[in-house]
Amino acid sequence: MVSLSDLPLRDDLRGMTPYGAPQDAVRYALNVNENTHPIPEDVARDIVESLARAVLGANRYPDREFSELRTAFAGYLGHGLDADQIWAANGSNEIIQHVLQAFGGPGRRVLGFPPTYSMHPIIAAGTGTEWVTAERDAGYRISPETAVAAVERTDPDLVFLCAPNNPTGTPLPIETIEAVYAASRGMVFVDEAYAEFMPDEVPSALTLLPGRERLIVSRTMSKAFAFAGVRVGYLAADAAVTDALRLVRLPYHLSALTQAAALAALRHAPEMLAMVDDIRGQRDRLLAELPALGYRAHESQANFVLFDGVADPHATFRALRERDILIRDVGLPGALRVTAGTEEETSYFLAALAELGAGGA
Ligand code: PMP
Repeated sequence: MVSLSDLPLRDDLRGMTPYGAPQDAVRYALNVNENTHPIPEDVARDIVESLARAVLGANRYPDREFSELRTAFAGYLGHGLDADQIWAANGSNEIIQHVLQAFGGPGRRVLGFPPTYSMHPIIAAGTGTEWVTAERDAGYRISPETAVAAVERTDPDLVFLCAPNNPTGTPLPIETIEAVYAASRGMVFVDEAYAEFMPDEVPSALTLLPGRERLIVSRTMSKAFAFAGVRVGYLAADAAVTDALRLVRLPYHLSALTQAAALAALRHAPEMLAMVDDIRGQRDRLLAELPALGYRAHESQANFVLFDGVADPHATFRALRERDILIRDVGLPGALRVTAGTEEETSYFLAALAELGAGGA
């Protein structure tokens, strides 16, 4: 059998492990922070009609500039954004890759604050960008002082922030983003994949964009829009940033079908987002009920909750798996992460966890 070591693989990729969240067929898949609510049927029908029209023109390459879609995202985001300040790609993972291809690369480094989204260091490695890290404060917070000290120590070409953070769900103060921007010379990338789940009064980093040409705010349709399977991520930044990304994207990277589906879904934004409030409610229920079962739940502004106090996370993971529930062991000692699902899914998960007894043993 040929193994990786038999191949002339790049030295810096040797020994790495690929992203590998399990994709088991279980009844209760609460492990990758998807929106577990199905797409409303009338919206699905409109999407299919749009796809049918797009298929008829699929002999031609799609609009390389995805102009209609950029206009639609600018409208959805508001904040006075124009279409030329928007970029989109096949999931925000590809957004991150474009950003690192354009502003990172060999000889450059990106600063991150683990525990954070596991793909940030993996995409850094894939683009030959050095991943340097700094510690968070207690409770996985990052104060402006902590962040600025890390920027001064590492002098990064890019800083990756995640607001709210995955896998902890914890908020990131807007003051930290402002302070990082002021202290750094490089690009400041704020991953707001879970923005729609934040409390209404929490400001998005989008409010900081005017006058900050090194700031990028990234979003996705995978979570709030229940569109993980379609693969659509997008960002807002200065128009010069989108010009830079044009240098590294593959031509026609967003297929005509992707563009048509995303446009149709955006036409139904209020309906697509109707489940967000339900999901926030289930998240708040997890935050309230996990402590009653003897766990410590970390404050979450996302559609998932990280909880500590698990005696043996592997054993609890397996015991839940036997009950047809998949949650996430994110490798933090004594902790597990669960996605807020529908009311029924959340109830089933909480009942199963209660059955396991104190500490999940
Ligand atoms: N950023 C964060 C913080 C995430 O948690 C995820 C998905 N788990 C992504 C980006 C990527 O999402 P997608 O590529 O589906 O847009």
